[in-house]
Amino acid sequence: MNTQLEAQTLDTLTFDNSFMRELPADPETENYRRQVKRACYSRVQPTKVVQPQMVAYAREVAEKLGFASGICETDDFVQVFSGNRLLPAMDCYATCYGGHQFGSWAGQLGDGRAINLGEIVNHNGERWTLQLKGAGPTPYARMADGFAVLRSSVREFLCSEAMHHLGIPTTRALSLVTTGEQIVRDMFYDGNSRPEPGAVVCRVAQSFTRFGSFQIFAARRETDVLQQLLDYTIRTDFPHLGEPSPDIYLAWFEEVCRRTAEMVVHWMRVGFVHGVMNTDNMSILGLTIDYGPYGWLEGYDPDWTPNTTDAGLHRYCFGKQPQIAYWNLAQLSHAISPLVERAELLKGVLKSYIKEYEYGWQSMMAKKLGLNAFDSETDDELVTELQAILQLAETDITIFFRQLAKIDFELKPMGDVRDVTLPETLMNAFYVPDQLTDDHVVRIGNWIRRYGERVRKDGTLNDKRRRRMNAINPKYVLRNYLAQLAIDKAEQGDNSMVNELLELLRHPYDEQPDKEDYAEKRPDWARHRAGGSMLSCSS
Ligand code: AMP
Ligand code: MG
Repeated sequence: MNTQLEAQTLDTLTFDNSFMRELPADPETENYRRQVKRACYSRVQPTKVVQPQMVAYAREVAEKLGFASGICETDDFVQVFSGNRLLPAMDCYATCYGGHQFGSWAGQLGDGRAINLGEIVNHNGERWTLQLKGAGPTPYARMADGFAVLRSSVREFLCSEAMHHLGIPTTRALSLVTTGEQIVRDMFYDGNSRPEPGAVVCRVAQSFTRFGSFQIFAARRETDVLQQLLDYTIRTDFPHLGEPSPDIYLAWFEEVCRRTAEMVVHWMRVGFVHGVMNTDNMSILGLTIDYGPYGWLEGYDPDWTPNTTDAGLHRYCFGKQPQIAYWNLAQLSHAISPLVERAELLKGVLKSYIKEYEYGWQSMMAKKLGLNAFDSETDDELVTELQAILQLAETDITIFFRQLAKIDFELKPMGDVRDVTLPETLMNAFYVPDQLTDDHVVRIGNWIRRYGERVRKDGTLNDKRRRRMNAINPKYVLRNYLAQLAIDKAEQGDNSMVNELLELLRHPYDEQPDKEDYAEKRPDWARHRAGGSMLSCSS
């Protein structure tokens, strides 16, 4: 990096606030809750806080933004990224969007507690929007207070960085600070409110525009604003598509479908469950956005959802994420249909998601198994049976794939002896090995043999297969209980585990011999603990 071009102080950062410049603003500048019509955003200032303190920052994000090293360690940084001090070039705003929540149209939502500080243009000419989450109420705060608690902010901070290091498109997190304020929350909506430490995360993305950002203008029949936003989005974030026109809108939608499919394939690869796939939580860039009651699969269960609000419907459970993304894309297609001359073409484009997803999922599964390519003739069945055997007994999905990579297969036909024991290395993946009946053992053993035959046909040597598998099957993920342990400590003023997990998750595919504990199965005490596997939207 050319250090000459790095910003040596925050005051020398270059801002170019094109979103505000090019899109219609709410003329009202007072900060009170309201319906905002015919505008993409409202100007609003962060609320000042008493005593901001650094919990953690991501140096890679600071580098990406072009901050000289050391800036993040300054008190000025903490003041700026808690919202206490605005840089002269910052012009703050909250955006207007709507959305479908749990399948029903919810009307105007908007940045209720997220405040954009502006767009930085870094030394490489890249545009990055800085956004404080939890920096106080905005006109879109509805009934809520505009703040965020440390618990949910630790989760957002760590998970967005973890996802990035796993190679998954996501919004990033620059910093996490506590505010010195206490925020009252009823974590499980059961009448047990308690004060919790307040916190602010600075999120970073090229764009925070959501499906719901378009939906709100379609719902209000503000077609001219809808078009302005779409034209702006294409020119700014999809310039390779060319000058906006009805045909380009279709091409744009196709790209959103493709990016969304890619994102969901990644989620399915690592066992990530977003938890609240409402259309306001879907990024048009295909970024994982809005880390709320998300969770990581431990025992493989397609029906699992970490979100207690979704406990009845399981709308957003692991296995349904691909369909829900499709449903959400359908809502986006309805929203932009007034701008597309031949709206029936949108249906065809929407269908492209299904192909993209299927193709992406198959090649991802082939890679997870260390194969050269997915061969439907053999692999449809192989993978279907794999999903079945993973559910015979509670099987840790992360550990399973790392252990599977360790098994050596002979490159000669294996004959058909009926194994009654499983490779020892695999036993570590089962939560309660006693759950395995003899029938289960035979069935799993048979699958391993078939997989071995498939590997042999593939002609890939054990070492090569192992390397391939370990490059796509993480050893370390942000297990739900690990995040909770880090939160427990941070709430006591000890930020060490937040920082330790941040460091651990920078290298999720590597063996880290002194961190083996963090790759272990969830301990039994964590199974039913709040935060361990049950989360609410309260944050
Ligand atoms: P979420 O469930 O986080 O996607 O949020 C849904 C909507 O509620 C968005 O419009 C958020 O901005 C808003 N919201 C969530 N929590 C708060 C809060 N504490 N204060 C203000 N608005 C909030
Ligand atoms: Mg949201």
